Amino acid sequence: MFDAPTLGREPTLRDSERGNPRSMAKLGAQPRSVCHRIARLPQDGHRYQAPSLFGMKLSRRSRWILGAASVCVLVLGGVAFLNRGPSIVIPDRPCADPPPLRTHDGVTLQPVAMRAFHKAERTAHTTIAISASFRSCAQQAIACRNICGNPQGCPGRCATPGSSWHQLGAAVDLTQGSLDNATIVSAMKSAGWCEPLPSSDPGHFSYGGCH
Ligand SMILES: [Zn+2]
Repeated sequence: MFDAPTLGREPTLRDSERGNPRSMAKLGAQPRSVCHRIARLPQDGHRYQAPSLFGMKLSRRSRWILGAASVCVLVLGGVAFLNRGPSIVIPDRPCADPPPLRTHDGVTLQPVAMRAFHKAERTAHTTIAISASFRSCAQQAIACRNICGNPQGCPGRCATPGSSWHQLGAAVDLTQGSLDNATIVSAMKSAGWCEPLPSSDPGHFSYGGCH
């Protein structure tokens, strides 16, 4: 600390008295040690402020917990991102421009759906019998006519040609025997297949969403 200019200032203690708490108290001054502590604080405009979140002061422990939670969220998000399966292909006009398809043992599906179907078979330790997989739009119209008498489809029972997941090669219809096998149904669901309408369209399973 240094002396302020003498002109016009209040009387101060002699140098020899500085540091003596009693003498300092006479002038209402702070002891040297306190002065030193104050002197080390940043000047006005640069005052130290504890980190805050939405106006709440955060303790060191809170900051540590927040940091750890942020790292966990990032790690879990990254793992989920890496584990997500490839998506199915959805053409704008599936009747005119069908998606890529694979056929194996009488089952025709998109490659990603085919892999999921084989995964279900491995999980169930058996082949899974089906009555339908990919259907062209013409085949869908025939199916709808047979199911409800209308080739353009019937709500809840047969989708309009071009709008069914069968036209995407991402749906199968299990035979009644497969549907009665709880192990197969469980394996299908664990492999990512969805049975969207078990009451009105039992045995219809879609991959890549419930459709
Ligand atoms: Zn179906």
